Amino acid sequence: MLSKIISQANVDHVEKWFERADKVVIVTHVSPDGDAIGSSLGLWHFLLSQGKTVHVIVPNAFPDFLKWMPGAKDIIQYNRYKEFADKLLQEADVICVLDLNVLSRLDEMQSAVANSPARKMLVDHHLYPGDFARITISHPHISSTSELVFRLICQLGNFSDISKEGAECIYAGMMTDTGAFTYNSNDREIYLIISELLSKGIDKDEIYRNVYNNNSEGRLRLKGYVLCEKMQLFPNFNAALITLSREEQKQFHYMKGDTEGLVNIPLSVKGICFSAFLREDTEKDMIKISLRSVGTFPCNEVASEYFNGGGHLNASGGEFYGPLDKAVELFKQALVKYEDLLLGKK
Ligand code: 5GP
Ligand code: MN
Repeated sequence: MLSKIISQANVDHVEKWFERADKVVIVTHVSPDGDAIGSSLGLWHFLLSQGKTVHVIVPNAFPDFLKWMPGAKDIIQYNRYKEFADKLLQEADVICVLDLNVLSRLDEMQSAVANSPARKMLVDHHLYPGDFARITISHPHISSTSELVFRLICQLGNFSDISKEGAECIYAGMMTDTGAFTYNSNDREIYLIISELLSKGIDKDEIYRNVYNNNSEGRLRLKGYVLCEKMQLFPNFNAALITLSREEQKQFHYMKGDTEGLVNIPLSVKGICFSAFLREDTEKDMIKISLRSVGTFPCNEVASEYFNGGGHLNASGGEFYGPLDKAVELFKQALVKYEDLLLGKK
């Protein structure tokens, strides 16, 4: 039996909105990851089954290894179909905002969502949710937004309306936000949910292969190059750094998503508890920062203090507007400032 973690007041409120709504739009964060796409499509399949007119709109492109998800082809990319997306947002009865805590994570889509007259609800698992939605379902201790979508549908009493396709999307989101259940995944209820998703007929092993064994040659060689040539270790700080320039990305025929997961690898070196990945963005003139930690080291504090960002204790990110070497300098300053925490002295 799953605990009913979403408050009954929120569930009742959502039920009323969904009952009355005809047009629903689901939105999620810029550079959507597996949980963003999985939770959005999981909810999309459910709302379709309830007879709603429903669209998923994302700010920009998402990686190829998520495109197998049922419904992925129907996702509207805001930066390509702005006019159509603006119209949908303007005419929606309800906008469901998923897997983000502040509207700035919608990037270019932010004002269109903020200015829409639609009722807004948030379903998310990041710390510090903003105050932009009438219904805020925010549970930072839950490991994925996809899991929250599953819980919400169940608490609405609609488990039987989850299709195999919807279950596949929800499972994919839960899997990707926990590194295939290797971190942030000790809650026993995760496995009760997986069991329920399996009862819908999903093939979890195939989903794993679709996401993780779907490399292009360039992507796998890039991984080899990064580990051999680019990973720097700072054993005195239990930390690691990888940088990647635009030129290097070109050399390996970089496609969106190709570097996802690289930041985690240095954490497999004995003793390393903090890893940073700094990449010159190919779409914008900025350095994209990804930070990961194990244990209690708060990489989200480093993200917000040095890189204009935020996120979870063990997985965070940010942006830096300036040259790569300046971003590296900031990272090194952060190591000095956080030395005691990195060495477990505090
Ligand atoms: P990733 O390293 O996979 O891009 O991001 C990991 C996590 O860091 C995300 O789930 C999100 O919580 C957070 N994050 C990444 N980039 C940003 C950013 O630019 N701003 C904020 N506030 N959080 C970010
Ligand atoms: Mn997430």
